[in-house]
Amino acid sequence: MAKDKVTIFDTTLRDGEQSAGIGLTTHEKLQIAKQLEMLGVDVIEAGFAASSPGDFQAVDLISKEVRNPIIASLARCVPGDVDSAWDAIQSASRPRIHVFVSSSDVQIMHQLRKNPEEVFDMAVSSVERAKSYCEDVEFSPMDATRTDMDYLYKLLTAVIQAGATTLNIPDTVGYAMPWEFSDRISKIKENVPGIDNVVISVHCHNDLGLSVANSLAAVQVGARQVEGCINGLGERAGNASLEEVIMGIETRQEMLGVSTNIDTRQIYRTSRLVSDITGFTIQPNKAIVGVNAFRHASGIHQDGVLKERTTFEIMDPQSIGWPSSSLVLGKLSGRAGLRSRLEEMGYKLTDSELNQAFKAFKDLADRKREITNADLESLMSSQRRTSDVPNLYTLSSVKVTSGNDSTPTATVTIDNPEGSSIIESSVGTGPVDAVYKAIDKVVQVDNELLEYRVEAVTEGIDAIGDVSIRISKENTIYVGRGSDTDIIVASAKAYMNAINRVLAFN
Ligand SMILES: [Zn+2]
Repeated sequence: MAKDKVTIFDTTLRDGEQSAGIGLTTHEKLQIAKQLEMLGVDVIEAGFAASSPGDFQAVDLISKEVRNPIIASLARCVPGDVDSAWDAIQSASRPRIHVFVSSSDVQIMHQLRKNPEEVFDMAVSSVERAKSYCEDVEFSPMDATRTDMDYLYKLLTAVIQAGATTLNIPDTVGYAMPWEFSDRISKIKENVPGIDNVVISVHCHNDLGLSVANSLAAVQVGARQVEGCINGLGERAGNASLEEVIMGIETRQEMLGVSTNIDTRQIYRTSRLVSDITGFTIQPNKAIVGVNAFRHASGIHQDGVLKERTTFEIMDPQSIGWPSSSLVLGKLSGRAGLRSRLEEMGYKLTDSELNQAFKAFKDLADRKREITNADLESLMSSQRRTSDVPNLYTLSSVKVTSGNDSTPTATVTIDNPEGSSIIESSVGTGPVDAVYKAIDKVVQVDNELLEYRVEAVTEGIDAIGDVSIRISKENTIYVGRGSDTDIIVASAKAYMNAINRVLAFN
């Protein structure tokens, strides 16, 4: 018997991006959308078109460039939002308008300052308006888990009649318990006429750490769309982590009786790309994608896995696309070897991209003896960064002196947008501070450093250091990433990356 498919609806670019307070360039959003397409998600919620010109632009571009998934835009239940959602998605091969409105008493009264009848009319007329543009219309009663059930039944019945094809039941505030949530979904199925002709969707937040459990509990009683974000990004404690939902369904297919269209081997790359672009690093013990997810520390477990993998592993790391950590390349490896290795890892490069990558690879091989897949991932991320963010300023050199008996001093050489080189020096409380102050003298972009973090990409003294920073300018947060075997250089690159991002936005 063919298994029922669960539609995977990704909202990393909407719920995830919006809540993070981070400015992603349109090009970066497109990169994420393209990777989501490789992953095989069924629906990409590309943004909230009416919320800002930047969001509109991104939804429009993704609609034109990413052709396999359904592309959705969010819209409030007001005519202008619905119109702008349609304007942004109309060139998609499969467009969807997703309208939402608060349905709980507390939100209707205090946030919308309306009465339930007014909200009812707004919902119905917005679904009708959306339907006049496009066949595929999703409706979400916000805060559904705290909404009066009788009101919810009436509302859902009316929007089905108005033409909604997917009904999404969000646990907006992350309040539900799994058994309570599945009970609510079952009751909706029993009490809403016409529900069998539409798809029931769920959208769970993780305030009590139950978003994935709630999503799977809903699938068990008939929900056939799950919304979530890669790495569990999203408002507050985040949304259901899509990779966990997917692997939950795939690993326990027999119990749930459903499957997905996902190519699970793309999970690892998708997770790393999203982390890299958003600057939200992944906790080491995160299920599925954390660095420790498949690491066995206990001797008994290690012994078991060596004898037979399934003794202590319920999933094969390769099924998620984990790169092997074995030595892959070294100083003497050639261009063809690099190309085939990168292709195995899923990178498709043009000749000029390969040339650039090869140059960076040789440079790295001079400083690091063994180059693993993790190093190559990091190298490719650096390449991507330079193409995602216009390089208005380029760091050409950085020199630092520091030590316990001297004042840290840095000198940087930076090429400005006009193409001339500027040299500046500064002292600081530490070497990174000195470098950042010297860079500030050149670029003169007022900002506040909110967060600075350095991590080693691989083990060993010659490991690549990966620096991620967040800076804030006028209430927007900008992420910067940089990698190098020298962490001071990596820090300088990360800062330049963030500064170029600020300049690209302003
Ligand atoms: Zn949400």
